[in-house]
Amino acid sequence: PSITKGVTLEIPKVTWKDIGGLKDVKKELEKAVEWPMKYPASFSRLGINPIRGILLHGPPGCSKTTLAKAIANAANVPFISLSCTEMISKFVGQGEGYLREMFRKARLAGKSIIFFDEVDAVAGKRGHSSSGNSVAEERVLSTLLTEMDGLEEAKGVLVLAATNRREAIDDALLRPGRLDLKLYVPPPDLEGRFEILKVYTRKMKLGSDVDLRRLAEDTERFTGAELEGLCKEVGVEAIREAIRENKQASVIYGRHFQIVKNALKPALAA
Ligand code: ATP
Repeated sequence: PSITKGVTLEIPKVTWKDIGGLKDVKKELEKAVEWPMKYPASFSRLGINPIRGILLHGPPGCSKTTLAKAIANAANVPFISLSCTEMISKFVGQGEGYLREMFRKARLAGKSIIFFDEVDAVAGKRGHSSSGNSVAEERVLSTLLTEMDGLEEAKGVLVLAATNRREAIDDALLRPGRLDLKLYVPPPDLEGRFEILKVYTRKMKLGSDVDLRRLAEDTERFTGAELEGLCKEVGVEAIREAIRENKQASVIYGRHFQIVKNALKPALAA
């Protein structure tokens, strides 16, 4: 059976509203992805080529993957996500075949987005890693470059890639016509943290003493992933307290946020 059997392209359910902050990045993505997908005729009338590839780079846990999904949702196009580390480890020796098959599926779908997570795993600078690039890595990278060059004719297939190690990416992948647009996805600023906290507490029953603005101020250096983790844990903390005191948990108070927050060490602070 084909190694891509069962892999399907679907329109993701994640929307812009699920992502707090990052206004500028969202705007850039709208322009670069949503417009060409929605108004291809305008682009060809004006004689401009939409870009074919975008690199999202920045620290882990700051929503590169989630942004890629949300833009597919906004543009209403099917999406497929490939983990590049998996392509090397899981499909030993079959990485190129897998990749070619994925591009074929995307072309068949017409308008679509292929997302490469941890793209540095296959596109590290040649000859720069201490161990040297593996043969498997080299072969997957050259297949990726060939497939991307071939997208010129296949209109509507867009490549998005993500990395935490922008400086490690081979220049060949960053040339015009490949990943032309590089977007930095920063850790959340104060406003971003406030927005993220609002996203994750949307459905929670919060006490009136919970001050999310204040909490955003107190969580400098937290990533979106860590703020998400914090919000998930406060509910558990409220329940833990209620069990201990033999009560019913009904509201999440400021103290629950404090207890959980104090127990966390943000990775970016390290
Ligand atoms: P990695 O490099 O580790 O793959 P990433 O940058 O791709 O990380 P995601 O996987 O998109 O990050 O995010 C990790 C988790 O954190 C997800 O559950 C995501 O929803 C959440 N998250 C991160 N940033 C935000 C944000 N700005 N708004 C809402 N959720 C966020």
